[in-house]
Amino acid sequence: MKPAESGVVQVAVEAPTHTGLGAPLDYLSERPLSPGTLVRVPLGKREVTGIVWQGAHHEAAPEGLKSVTEALAALPPLGAAWCELVAFSSGYYQRGVGELAMAVLPPELRKLDDRQIANRIAKLHKASAAAPASPDPGSLQPELPPPSPEQEAALARLAEAERTGDAPTVLLHGVTGSGKTEVYLRAAAKALAAGKQVLVLVPEINLTPQLEARFAQRFAGRRIVAQHSGLTPAQRLRHWLAAHLGLADLVLGTRLAVFASMPRLGLIVVDEEHDPSYKQQEGARYSARDLAVYRGKLEHATVLLGSATPSLETWQRANEGRYVRLALAQRIGGGALPAVRLVDMNAMPKAKGGGGALSPPLVAALQERIARGEQSLVFLNRRGYAPVLHCGECGWKSACPHCSAWRVFHKLDRSLRCHHCGFSERVPRACPECGNLDISPIGRGTERLEEQLAELLRSETGPPARIARIDADSTRTKGSLESQLGAVHAGDVDVLVGTQMVTKGHDFRRVTLVAAVNPDGSLFSSDFRAPERLFALLLQAGGRAGRDAAHAARSELWVQTWHPQHALYAALKRHDFEAFAASQLEERAAAGLPPYSSLALLRADARTPEAAREFLQAAAELAATLPGADAVMLYPPVPPVVARVADVERMQMLIESPSRAALQRFLAIWLPAIHTLRRDRAAASQRVLRWAVDVDPLAI
Ligand SMILES: [Zn+2]
Ligand SMILES: [Zn+2]
Repeated sequence: MKPAESGVVQVAVEAPTHTGLGAPLDYLSERPLSPGTLVRVPLGKREVTGIVWQGAHHEAAPEGLKSVTEALAALPPLGAAWCELVAFSSGYYQRGVGELAMAVLPPELRKLDDRQIANRIAKLHKASAAAPASPDPGSLQPELPPPSPEQEAALARLAEAERTGDAPTVLLHGVTGSGKTEVYLRAAAKALAAGKQVLVLVPEINLTPQLEARFAQRFAGRRIVAQHSGLTPAQRLRHWLAAHLGLADLVLGTRLAVFASMPRLGLIVVDEEHDPSYKQQEGARYSARDLAVYRGKLEHATVLLGSATPSLETWQRANEGRYVRLALAQRIGGGALPAVRLVDMNAMPKAKGGGGALSPPLVAALQERIARGEQSLVFLNRRGYAPVLHCGECGWKSACPHCSAWRVFHKLDRSLRCHHCGFSERVPRACPECGNLDISPIGRGTERLEEQLAELLRSETGPPARIARIDADSTRTKGSLESQLGAVHAGDVDVLVGTQMVTKGHDFRRVTLVAAVNPDGSLFSSDFRAPERLFALLLQAGGRAGRDAAHAARSELWVQTWHPQHALYAALKRHDFEAFAASQLEERAAAGLPPYSSLALLRADARTPEAAREFLQAAAELAATLPGADAVMLYPPVPPVVARVADVERMQMLIESPSRAALQRFLAIWLPAIHTLRRDRAAASQRVLRWAVDVDPLAI
């Protein structure tokens, strides 16, 4: 590469997939640019940010080739491994490489010029020099409790796996309260001591502060940065730069952080690896958990997947010996797992007037807890007061005019709100159809449950029960979740009501009873993953009880059900994840479902269901003509559970193959052909608003 000569560089630019500009484009550069360099280039009438994908080569530049406007040379180029991770993700999830790259980089990088970036970098170096350069080894780990024998065995197995295999992927299967975090911390300490960087992924932003605090406490003097969508753009850039420049030793974040640029990556931890939040639900629909595993192989970094209820995909890979399995079967301090009580709702007295969400034995158990000064957690996966309002005279229901869904009644602000499109109105005084004044709620959400609990737990003698509610409505304002959790920890709450939000991660010491009010819906869902999710949810929720060893012996998980004989609940009673997983895997194998097959969903949105269906049918006809079509199976287009959202009709088509590679090969040919279809066939396909593919979809 001769510096003085100009050459052609390939630049991955941010262009939406539908433009067909998914592949890197050629530009002229006066000087050689290393791959991974950020540049500004003209694209149509705009100027966009891109990444040099391939450095200058000396072909004769074609006539009229546009030049790179500016190279952001102050920023060290993105590493080859990072570019490879993006290239792989772009191919696997079928999005343009530049589109994906720019979506996962901090947005601020698009706005700053070279000089501004140089300033930011200089500032970071200065701040880092001012901080203690390396931690004082004496003060690093003051008085750590020794690991439990189980943790010790797991760590020894991990060390052995790292010695004998290159960058192992390890499943840490530990019951709730078994001290998985301590294993993460010790594995991280080892990686840090070897001069490596550590990436820790958590499913939700809410869980980052407490984990960050634990890591900060353990690794005083080390620089830890967070990466998630809750940061300001300036923070996000600063944290990203710190990791990219190698100044930060630990990166903690949500799914987006799997793309953090880390030149010395040595360990990736994926906490609660089964959590659906790791799957991105728009744009490039990537799975951060799956990409973490890929990245580990790419960068020779150990990957630690932790869960009490591993995803069946991960569990199966461990069964096949592709992942190393470590088990923590005991709770720290010897605490017992909560006893599971199934309340047979068939045997309960019929409630009058729409009450009856809470069975008499459960109410009695809650009262006992209050009398003993212990806390309870009651959850129901439906927020609002009632899922629908109804007129008994004419049959009117609170449908959303824009969606095929009911609007939820929120009593606190007297609104009818659609949880799909956000459309909200004041609750009408009378039925909008017939004028009947007596319109009533059907079913219940967390608001109504809170109200009913307050009534049922009213005591004639003592003070009233203190009830708090945590869901997406009660935690909308910044800091409200923290203050509500604080009240629970301080013991100012007797009964905490909430959605599944309350079941994740939080360490409630005084909770001895956890109750699922109405979890049966998932047993018979059309989504084949619903039972897996329900089992994980209940086990995780139960894990909130008895974290304090003193209370563990009498901690209980109550499940109100109309189907107490169901196999899922039988396995739950025994806390037997392995038996549950085995039976689920057997069903999946028989039905040819993941992990025994690979799936993709082609989705289309249109103004009418007919247009969406026609488009998918045209795509299916096209598929039949392509090579590799015999290796995949296309199902007929069907609407999703909620077909219409915000006046857009949605339709989807499932593509299945026993071979992941065959599915990948086919998608790579088919999707570009669909783009062409859309350009060519003016009539049907033009009426489609948008379409997208979801590889390894989580919800079907
Ligand atoms: Zn009416
Ligand atoms: Zn709506």
